[in-house]
Amino acid sequence: MKVIDHISQANGKTLFSFEILPPKKGEDINTLFEAINPLMEFDPAFIDVTYHREEYIQRTLKSGEIISHKTRKRPGTVGICAAVMNKFGIDAVPHLICGGFTKDDTENALIDLGFLGIDNVLALQGDALKTESQFVPYPGGNSYASDLIIQINNMNEGKYLDEDLGNTAKTNFCIGVAGYPEKHFESIDVDDDLKWLKNKVDLGAEYIVTQMFFDNKKYFDFVDRCRQNGITIPIIPGLKPLATERQLDVLSSVFHIEMPQELITEVRKVSGDKEAIKQVGVEWAIQQSKELKDGGAPCLHYYTMSKSGLTKRIVKEVF
Ligand code: FAD
Repeated sequence: MKVIDHISQANGKTLFSFEILPPKKGEDINTLFEAINPLMEFDPAFIDVTYHREEYIQRTLKSGEIISHKTRKRPGTVGICAAVMNKFGIDAVPHLICGGFTKDDTENALIDLGFLGIDNVLALQGDALKTESQFVPYPGGNSYASDLIIQINNMNEGKYLDEDLGNTAKTNFCIGVAGYPEKHFESIDVDDDLKWLKNKVDLGAEYIVTQMFFDNKKYFDFVDRCRQNGITIPIIPGLKPLATERQLDVLSSVFHIEMPQELITEVRKVSGDKEAIKQVGVEWAIQQSKELKDGGAPCLHYYTMSKSGLTKRIVKEVF
């Protein structure tokens, strides 16, 4: 079922959903199932599965020559979606990115997803390669999430890349996109960011999932700005339970978000005590979740990093 149908059928009740990562290459899928299992009692509406593009790893040969080796550390997004749907009977939402895909690769991936009965796609530009300072479009691929939306929508209308193809079946994907309450790091300002978000919506995005944030005001202000600019689709807040003291710096620099001073103070008070820091993170996320629920968020979406422990402690208090 489509994410937007889950939301409309909930009649204003806040839904619960979460994101997982495909296991690292070589790992057993059962470790992932074990992470999902404890959250099933809270009736998630859908589970997102991230996509991780190729990386280039340097290896030194015995001869001393250094070679660059291409690998994907977390392959399997499409397979994991199928496995999750098969095992748990729950909608899985694959993340589909521009990076590393030609348009032909994208079309083939969408064909596979359609065959598997997957109704949703989160359309993203994707992270830059680790060796690049900013995203560089893949040769023959899409440059922005908006280009990906155009391609998905074309397929939803039965238009494939080969215009001579006869009897083309229409796909039926519900398209989600990313939104940034604290603005995307490459946008010059919030207005520029909003302009491109609106463009994604005008092209056919049906719901937005936000980047993580730790200050609810950022989300509520973002929703207000979107509404004032004619973006009327559901905006799902993304939440990450803070798990370590180090994450105060790491999350804020990797995701370009601000940590509230109050949260920093609470963590510093128990500095060095791993369990106490987790407890601060859980309590913070419970408070955030309750307020977002009361504020009418359509769904609370948790970034679990494929570890359910903290998310379970939060969701138990909220749903
Ligand atoms: P876009 O919407 O394409 O925007 C990128 C930048 O360009 C923005 O600054 C935007 O304002 C600007 N822009 C947008 N459209 C245009 C245009 N047409 N012309 C000019 N400028 C434009 N990354 C992964 O690699 N895998 C994942 O699974 C993944 N999942 C994510 C899930 C969520 C909920 C979020 C919030 C992010 C996720 N990311 C993932 C990270 C994401 O790919 C990066 O943040 C990326 O830098 C931007 O992606 P986007 O889809 O928001 O990009």
